[in-house]
Amino acid sequence: MDCIFCQIRDGQIPSTRVYEDALTLAFMDINPVNEGHLLIISKTHAETIYDMSPPDLAAVSATAKKMAEAIRQALHSEGLNLYQANGAAASQVVPHFHLHLIPRWKGDGKGFDWKLVKGDPERIRVTAEKIRAQVPTERT
Ligand code: 5GP
Ligand code: ZN
Repeated sequence: MDCIFCQIRDGQIPSTRVYEDALTLAFMDINPVNEGHLLIISKTHAETIYDMSPPDLAAVSATAKKMAEAIRQALHSEGLNLYQANGAAASQVVPHFHLHLIPRWKGDGKGFDWKLVKGDPERIRVTAEKIRAQVPTERT
């Protein structure tokens, strides 16, 4: 297995680790967008959200909450972006599921540069209908 994040998990390549539990690992990004930028991975290799088990995804989410609190306490960050890419079309570079936590400060000049353009309400409605048709119905 030549997955770089599996190798980080196994300590085969160095990383700056900040937290670990049974299902997840948090370590610093080597190319930080801002001070404190870290990544949370599932210990189980899964390429994208489509391959993740719901318990692994929930565990990443629980670790994100812990790390968010710790980052804010440690760095007095004013905001925090959570970012997670799935697939090359979404700019995923490392094919092992990871969630970015990126601390933000007012006026730091970082962030996405997509422009807000008002959508056609009818098209939005039709698209929502297509998605809604694929949502599994809850069993109670
Ligand atoms: P992606 O675009 O796949 O969401 O982001 C991959 C992230 O992994 C990038 O922010 C990149 O800096 C980070 N990264 C890539 N290789 C390594 C590595 O060997 N160690 C660490 N700590 N981060 C890495
Ligand atoms: Zn992996």
